[in-house]
Amino acid sequence: MEIKDMRPETLLAQAGGAIDEQSGGVVPPIQPATTYVRDEYYNPLNPNNVYARPHNDVVRQAETVLAQLEGGVAALLFPSGMAAIAALFRTVPSGGRVVIQSGIYWNTTKWVREFCERRQIVVDEVDASDAAALEAVCSKGPANIVWVETPSNPWLKITDVGAAKKAAESCGALLAVDSTAASPVLTNPLKLGADIVMHSTTKVINGHSDVLGGVLICKEVSPVWEEIETDRGSAGAVMGPFEAWLLLRGMRTMAIRVERMVDNAMQIANYLSDHPKVETVLYPGVPSHEGHALARTQMPGGFGFLMSFLVKGDRETALKVAGRLKLFHRATSLGGVESLVEHRHTIEPHTGIPETLLRISVGAEHADDLIADLGQALGQ
Ligand SMILES: *Cc1c(COP(=O)(O)O)cnc(C)c1O
Repeated sequence: MEIKDMRPETLLAQAGGAIDEQSGGVVPPIQPATTYVRDEYYNPLNPNNVYARPHNDVVRQAETVLAQLEGGVAALLFPSGMAAIAALFRTVPSGGRVVIQSGIYWNTTKWVREFCERRQIVVDEVDASDAAALEAVCSKGPANIVWVETPSNPWLKITDVGAAKKAAESCGALLAVDSTAASPVLTNPLKLGADIVMHSTTKVINGHSDVLGGVLICKEVSPVWEEIETDRGSAGAVMGPFEAWLLLRGMRTMAIRVERMVDNAMQIANYLSDHPKVETVLYPGVPSHEGHALARTQMPGGFGFLMSFLVKGDRETALKVAGRLKLFHRATSLGGVESLVEHRHTIEPHTGIPETLLRISVGAEHADDLIADLGQALGQ
């Protein structure tokens, strides 16, 4: 069977691919060498490997799996999600323009604003889940990158990737999608029209809250892509072999982790929607969510594992609910097998996050236990 015919579940279960020829092992080996030998004619013994900064087999194996999962032609791993984001934005020349979605992962907004100010790059922020608003901003003039995040964090807004592509095209920009909260199992932005998809692999792709990483995957190898690749090799923002190996190991169970987490999240969303002490549930799986219909088509495998909800009351009420939770750890991040809860207003008070908003990342525990925990914390 050709690899291209494999379904994501199969690709993931055997991530890293074939048996290790040398040992016969069923998992890929780690090669920690920082340099590789040449023969007596000065040709590298392995033509792919000269020095570890740009060349490592297990990093390439993990990249191959990620590119295949997203339906892309190439992937580049970075030591964090932010390093991947920065690598893309660094290709924008001084005097350029970028259009970024408002109300997204806070550190993306913060870094892009600071970077673009230093480079005299214009940043236009817009609620990209409103396709007409995005189109209007794009029509103002040429741009280099349109950046969207769907579902967005922590608002869980859904952006129409196909419509965003049209808007990006109209101003000559590349469309890049941060698909971290969706996972490659639930959405494939490149197939919907995006030029580049980005994931913080720190989150559900690794899934065990123990490896920092990020990836960019492209639909085609453009000059911008080549610039990113060359810069990564030369400037050295590379993932190490141990991290790449752990990532591959984590990815082998991604399909089943996501399936369970999505199922748990849907049950929790239903429970919270009916709860008298909950004001609103922000989760695309809830029929009243404004992005629900779009999410149905864009996320055919399920609505994800991330949600926010507003508790009735004030800041203190919300903090007390978070404080009473026993199974949900009070910690930032998302996508791990362990459930987490965050009071986002404490972290980013200036971005208009409601004081009563709690964001949860639903893990792989039993849904009934998680619901019981939320029940006791909310006070039935
Ligand atoms: C975590 C996250 C990032 C940043 O990734 P790091 O691996 O923490 O650098 C970017 N976007 C989203 C949506 C994230 O959740």
